[in-house]
Amino acid sequence: MLQPVTLGSKTLADYTHIFGRDEIAEIRELAEPLRGARVVHVSATAFGGGVAEILYTLVPLMKDVGIDVEWQIIYGREEFFNATKLMHNALQGAPEGLTDEQWDVWRRYNEMNAAELPGGWDVAIVHDPQPAALFPLVPEKARGWVWRCHIDLSTPHEDTIARLLPYIQDYPQTLFHMEQYVPAGLNGKVNVVPPAIDPLAPKNMALSPDDAAYVCSQFGIDVDRPLMVQVSRFDPWKDPLGVIDAYRLVKETVPGVQLALVGSMASDDPEGWDFYNATVAHADGDPDIFILNNFNNVGAIEVNAFQSQADVVVQKSIREGFGLTVSEALWKGRPFVGGDVGGIPLQVEQGVSGYLVRSPEQCAARCEDILLDPALGKALGRRGKAHVRKHFLTPRYLRDYLKIFTELLEAGDGAAGAGAASVSDEEDAA
Ligand code: UDP
Repeated sequence: MLQPVTLGSKTLADYTHIFGRDEIAEIRELAEPLRGARVVHVSATAFGGGVAEILYTLVPLMKDVGIDVEWQIIYGREEFFNATKLMHNALQGAPEGLTDEQWDVWRRYNEMNAAELPGGWDVAIVHDPQPAALFPLVPEKARGWVWRCHIDLSTPHEDTIARLLPYIQDYPQTLFHMEQYVPAGLNGKVNVVPPAIDPLAPKNMALSPDDAAYVCSQFGIDVDRPLMVQVSRFDPWKDPLGVIDAYRLVKETVPGVQLALVGSMASDDPEGWDFYNATVAHADGDPDIFILNNFNNVGAIEVNAFQSQADVVVQKSIREGFGLTVSEALWKGRPFVGGDVGGIPLQVEQGVSGYLVRSPEQCAARCEDILLDPALGKALGRRGKAHVRKHFLTPRYLRDYLKIFTELLEAGDGAAGAGAASVSDEEDAA
């Protein structure tokens, strides 16, 4: 059984002062002919990670503009998620693929979910590889299908992408964060659409400097001394050990500097705990390094406070699909230093709205520049925020989706302005 996710409500009008009156009006205009269209998002989990983060905002806003939208979570057990975790890593370039048995498990769970998925959708959006086989298995259940890929497919394990391709190649529309992530061999329309952050969510809403400082001080941070922050899962690709090395170099010139590494943990991810422990060991008891996770009660507001309080936000990733944390930091007007990889350069213009680095030494040098020259940090932060406002806020993402729905529904019935009535009339034609 697929599990529907219960969602709160959001109002697009609330975003007017941030996103612009004309821009919001354009979204409403685009949405008008789609009023009543039945849309379903299908994903593997409602907790943790970027996909859930995004859908908690996007789905209520789609509803607010008149789409009859739902978000459903596929059914899966441990054997399925073991296989999809391997698949995820392999697609992002890890050397190990799935066994034949694991491919069978993946397909079997997709068949179960395909059978259980209700029909009659105008558009079904399938997120990531876990449920990717739905469209080829039950194409008749929706008039239009979208595969939304949230991961970095630039250098996939060859056998894994080759075996996944037959399931994704015929989706009428696909979405990728970046051009480099688009695999060869897709037959449908490819859209390069990066994700976005919600400026009004607790994680990103404006916190007063006093509130941010108050929250951070409760974790032992000395708010009168400089603070470097990285928010990310404890994962080798996020390079927290490199961040500690960079911090140590900064400390030689800025002795008062502190470092907070804030990362969420899943209780069922032993690898995550191993790497967390390795990070703690690398910090070697330094009282100015704070290693915090969600088991220390670090939720959205706390992440917000750390990002808001930081004198420099770091995201020293070695690999990064998009990096929501980058837009989160820039939106708070913070100076930013991050790895020159994946989606990070999309969000940061070198030297204009932050710095892109390739080593702990470069990272340290740029952090020092910022910490020693507050005016520089302010200017970088201001330009970073303007860039995020224009490109990486949820209303822009909503607009991109509405355009895709329009194309799909026009392609489906050959008539402009596919509303709910025409949609159900023509269900058989799907
Ligand atoms: N995040 C969080 N708490 C943490 C660590 C991360 O809420 O302790 C959030 C972070 O703010 C961001 C998301 O998890 O919204 C991570 O997304 P990103 O694209 O940066 O990286 P991913 O984890 O998807 O690789």
